[in-house]
Amino acid sequence: MNDRYSKSASAHERARVLLPGGVNSPVRALNSVGGVPFFASRGQGPWLTDVDGNRFVDYIGAYGPLVLGHCDARVVEAVIGALSDGTAFGAPTEAETTLAAKVAELVPSVERLRLVNSGTEATMSAIRVARGATGKAKIIKFNGCYHGHADYLLVKAGSGALTFGAPDSAGVPDGAAADTLVADYNDLSSVEALFDANAGEIAGVIVEPVPGNMGVIPPAEGFLSGLRRLCTNHDAVLIFDEVMSGFRVHLGGAQALYNVAPDLTCLGKVIGGGLPVGAYGGRADLMANVAPEGAVYQAGTLSGNPLSVAAGIATLDALTPDVFAGIVERTTTLCRRLAEVAAKAGVEVRINQVGTMFTTFFSANPIGSLADVQKCDFDRFKAFFHAMRDRGVSLPPSQYEACFVSAAHDDEALAHTVEAAQAAFATL
Ligand code: PLP
Repeated sequence: MNDRYSKSASAHERARVLLPGGVNSPVRALNSVGGVPFFASRGQGPWLTDVDGNRFVDYIGAYGPLVLGHCDARVVEAVIGALSDGTAFGAPTEAETTLAAKVAELVPSVERLRLVNSGTEATMSAIRVARGATGKAKIIKFNGCYHGHADYLLVKAGSGALTFGAPDSAGVPDGAAADTLVADYNDLSSVEALFDANAGEIAGVIVEPVPGNMGVIPPAEGFLSGLRRLCTNHDAVLIFDEVMSGFRVHLGGAQALYNVAPDLTCLGKVIGGGLPVGAYGGRADLMANVAPEGAVYQAGTLSGNPLSVAAGIATLDALTPDVFAGIVERTTTLCRRLAEVAAKAGVEVRINQVGTMFTTFFSANPIGSLADVQKCDFDRFKAFFHAMRDRGVSLPPSQYEACFVSAAHDDEALAHTVEAAQAAFATL
């Protein structure tokens, strides 16, 4: 065993007795790359420290939310301020409307919204609205896009992408997945075929407009606008799941970057500044279906939680257009330098970057689809992951994940990353 992680190893042993896999969310167990997950003790700016005292430049960023880095002073201050006034009221607060107004101002298609507690709740609720508003049951999702862990969304395509979905997880009855149809991302013809085969039955299409859950893949020219056209023509609700891409690929999300307006948008992560949150919103007429105004029921004891809302407001306030542009610029610089050191070491990589997100794919070919990702060299990714971690850089533990850069990733953090990558590539 690597002594570097001995305290983490003990902590993991202890945790494994009580928690499945020793974790509270599966990817943290590192099953796809092996090794001991480090147990975090503290984060500051771009740095994360584990229980063994190792320091890492962090590119997980809590899987997206930490766009300002760890422990940003403005966020900490806002949360402490809210905390001293009370942690939950079961009554509305003015701060919830303030956060809603900020989101509506930044995300072009969002006229009204509802705050929930997680991205999973946001996607479940948006689909309920789509079904309630259209009176139809079937939904289309894309192979490789993740929308949280609701039964009917835990579905990917089998060998034939144009068939009815089969559940991906034990415990999901076939019936729950039967109304989920699966198409291929960046392949509009696969969506058209499903609309044709299920005429009049499709309530909506849900898509990560820039997927991050199969690694970062930019939409092909015309793909998102094609989805918009198909949904309009077939009276289906277009749902952009921007839980990850929101405030990450552009301040206004992918819909602002690519100028395509969905009917509903799901958000999470950044709008909670690192505390639990989610939101769904969109066209005012669709959102009027939500209880108590309409017949689509959705509720939450801790929805609009004052601490999450305070962290979200502080985060969005700090994320000015200049700050955001600065993060994108640093991400671009980092990606260029990583590509340079890989090339010098003779390692073939393709780096996909959109805004503040990127993935280094171990492939000689462009990556534009899930099928392309599946052809990557996963053994090399695994070796690179460990070589980077042992040199003080924490990457998401899967080729199917995105790296996140924050406003706190300064010159020192970037230089450390490039130096580590140079040494890591040389070991492959
Ligand atoms: N949608 C997308 C695009 C996500 O990336 C995630 C989580 O990573 C979710 C939904 C689910 O969000 P949560 O984990 O907050 O339930």
